[in-house]
Amino acid sequence: MAGFNPITEARARELEAIIVTANGDDYEKEIKKFLQRSQRNDCYDLFGLVVIPNPAAIQERVLPGLSAKLRFSRKAISWDDVWRENYLVRVHSDGTVEVRELGHCFYCKKLASE
Ligand SMILES: [Zn+2]
Repeated sequence: MAGFNPITEARARELEAIIVTANGDDYEKEIKKFLQRSQRNDCYDLFGLVVIPNPAAIQERVLPGLSAKLRFSRKAISWDDVWRENYLVRVHSDGTVEVRELGHCFYCKKLASE
């Protein structure tokens, strides 16, 4: 099983892109570490994570139908919300979808609490 790839993650940040992976647990752990570790006076936010049950799920066109299933706090949300709020979207193998907050970086949290 491939571990977390810092190049992929740095690239996602550079492109301000949502990461899509079948390796969700590793990514989630590393993203949380990444957000806590960044302590310089700079925003290190990431832009959402989509976890699919297996790599073939993309080819099975899970992603195009996914936007209609996005809900957070019982409200319909858009990909824009996922991107802006850095949500984790987990697609289960039975097709159900779970959305959780990954949160913002150390710097943004500090600003918000001041
Ligand atoms: Zn930030």
